[in-house]
Amino acid sequence: MPILSHLHQLFDVDACCAYIHRLRWKDRPLQCPRCQSHHVGPWGTYHYQPGLKRYRCKEQGCTRTFNDLTGTLLDGSKRSMMHWIVATFLLCLSCSSRRIARELGVHIRTGYRWCWWLRNAALSYEIGRRLKGTVEADELYHTAGHKGQAKGGGQKSLGRRARGRRKKREPGRGHYDKDRPAIIAWISRYGGVVVHATRDCTVKTVQKAADTAVQAGRRLYTDSASSYRALRGYAHDFVNHTKKEYARGEVHENRAECLFSLLKPYLRVFRGISKTNLPGYLGFLQFLRNFHQLTAFEQAELILHAALDPTIASRAKKGDFVRCLDHFDLLQTQQN
Ligand SMILES: [Zn+2]
Repeated sequence: MPILSHLHQLFDVDACCAYIHRLRWKDRPLQCPRCQSHHVGPWGTYHYQPGLKRYRCKEQGCTRTFNDLTGTLLDGSKRSMMHWIVATFLLCLSCSSRRIARELGVHIRTGYRWCWWLRNAALSYEIGRRLKGTVEADELYHTAGHKGQAKGGGQKSLGRRARGRRKKREPGRGHYDKDRPAIIAWISRYGGVVVHATRDCTVKTVQKAADTAVQAGRRLYTDSASSYRALRGYAHDFVNHTKKEYARGEVHENRAECLFSLLKPYLRVFRGISKTNLPGYLGFLQFLRNFHQLTAFEQAELILHAALDPTIASRAKKGDFVRCLDHFDLLQTQQN
């Protein structure tokens, strides 16, 4: 028998509460989340969350109580703040939601829900990111089907034969409708990454993806695929892989290839992927790559900071940020 089975049991409750308190308010004074009054005072504690302090608004007509978690992603959670801190840290190390649930001693559905909420909070940093400097681009087709989407839940009726893990790839290019959507990576030599999941890799799609990811007029290096050659609005140059040309001086896309070598093991963790979840997972990879100079815990702190902001938290719970980054939808509305 181990002496201790969960890491967070070693944490100091008061230190964690003080940390969350600082992260939520920074140097701002305490403020009532309902009437925005600064006229507040302490009001006891909670029995279910040891260490969490309760405050009461002294404004006449309000007199409501609140705490450091009111309105945040962590609000109402029966688990301690230590659980959340470890979960966010493990998420930044790209652990699966099941692994995180095991390490924390919570149910796998709790782990899955937390992961999505936290991932959504992280995506708030990636909204509207457009790349500067010289940009490299490449595409990849990844198998993504209908994982976890049985009608009515419970006993899974997929309406088809189970596919098995090793779905045989169809030859040629993938397409969203063939359960093999395209992933286009844009990577700047100046620093910064944008990863898009798109339905296909046609000229129209690539142009639209480029316009959202890259600032107009930038230098763009790609391979010789015809979709890139038809791009307008960029100083474009390409290497010809079919002629075994991989670099011609400045012109190469090795950073994009390198990003894919990181992307593949990242996606493998999920053991098969649903195409509805793909944009969310890719958006989180984009966050991790754009802050790769930070340690995993510093990244976790960024996510916790977003999760403790009530405006971001309510949008993250609704999945607003994923919808902003979802290019499947974007292109579907364009087709209709
Ligand atoms: Zn108030």
